[in-house]
Amino acid sequence: MPEPTTPLIERPWEDLERMLDVDTALRRVLSAFAPLESISLPLLEAANMVLAADVFARDDVPPFRNSAMDGYAVRAADTVSATWSEPAELPVAAHVAAGQGDVPQLVAGEAIRIMTGAPLPEGADAVVRFEETNEPGSAGRSRQESVLVYRPARPFDNVREAGEDITCGAPIAYRGHELRPADLGLIASVGEPSVLVHRRPQVAVLSTGNEVVPPGVDLKPGTIRDSNSFVIGALARSWGADVQLIGIARDTVRDLTNRLDEAIGVDLIVTSGGVSLGDYDLVKDVLKSEGEVAIWQVRMKPGKPLAFGRIGPTPLLGVPGNPVAAAVSFIIFGRPAIRTMLGHQVTDPRTVEVVTADGIDNRGQRRHYVRVRLERGDGGPALAKIAGEQGAGVLSSLAAADALMIVPEEMERVPPGTCLRAILRDW
Ligand code: AMP
Ligand code: MG
Repeated sequence: MPEPTTPLIERPWEDLERMLDVDTALRRVLSAFAPLESISLPLLEAANMVLAADVFARDDVPPFRNSAMDGYAVRAADTVSATWSEPAELPVAAHVAAGQGDVPQLVAGEAIRIMTGAPLPEGADAVVRFEETNEPGSAGRSRQESVLVYRPARPFDNVREAGEDITCGAPIAYRGHELRPADLGLIASVGEPSVLVHRRPQVAVLSTGNEVVPPGVDLKPGTIRDSNSFVIGALARSWGADVQLIGIARDTVRDLTNRLDEAIGVDLIVTSGGVSLGDYDLVKDVLKSEGEVAIWQVRMKPGKPLAFGRIGPTPLLGVPGNPVAAAVSFIIFGRPAIRTMLGHQVTDPRTVEVVTADGIDNRGQRRHYVRVRLERGDGGPALAKIAGEQGAGVLSSLAAADALMIVPEEMERVPPGTCLRAILRDW
């Protein structure tokens, strides 16, 4: 991890002057990450991962001249006089199937029956589709002796040239490119069974809180169930990380320390809870004593406190405990960190322009990520409707949302009809 240029230890002052804006906080977080080492993976395992080296074609695609249709290979010149009323009749000299290696030569004035993907016989320059031919007296016979051609073929009709798609030596995809399905197909078609990509980051997810219990355990008075582990874990996995959930730490120095120790060595630890100003918000103390971790106040809503730094060699991102604050903070800071480790060149979220259907108050100079549902606009930008209660703990409105609409810090009052940008859901 590169040395940060700004001091990591800062105190969580409440005054605005001391609060970081989202972009500054994000820059600080991202300065700690770089693409991970490259590994060779079988093609399917590399889907959606990022190439760590350029790939060049070692063959032509297609590798040989072949037929694009089922029909007859001919010399176009032998069909020039063909019409529907007076077809050209050519003797059928041979049959060629796809996969056939030795293909007879075409003699002038003859035709060779040919299937899609079969090598074009030497001497042929066109293929006439079955639909434009007929086999006289072929009924009940497996092999006809001649074919009637009803339309003149032009040279190169229905012929796929060697190297027409990719020429040997040409670049297929460059390093830094995300491997989409068609890329994998191209790489397979030039003969590579595996590919060099940046490995997936290992992400350990830890929930904290004396009140937090896992699902499947009966609630006792005062306890709530852990939802953060699953939201954060599933987000990280959806962005391409390998995720381990390392449980729920009590709010004690000892338990927190032990659990964090277990996770050291992964590429990123994500904790939730314990970073605000409450009496039992111990994460910040433990982080500070165990490693080099700053708690920042970030000018965003939901999610104000954010911890970032490292425990030993391992980067740690501490998001707030409230479920939506945890999720939004992880989307804003965790996603680009994971994408950077995966080697993606673009780490900004995908945004679209929307028109807000509702008025929104945004006092406090924080960037507000509003959970919205998108509806089709009248040909213009989508219409964004508030997806439900916007409290930092109301996860159901995040579950219902298609997007996070961004209300800029300085916009105190957003009237309905205002154009804003929204982060499209990829969670
Ligand atoms: P904290 O940031 O630890 O002060 O927690 C803020 C709020 O989020 C409290 O109401 C916690 O009970 C709740 N909370 C903390 N961790 C979780 C979790 N893993 N799952 C669901 N809610 C949580
Ligand atoms: Mg807590």
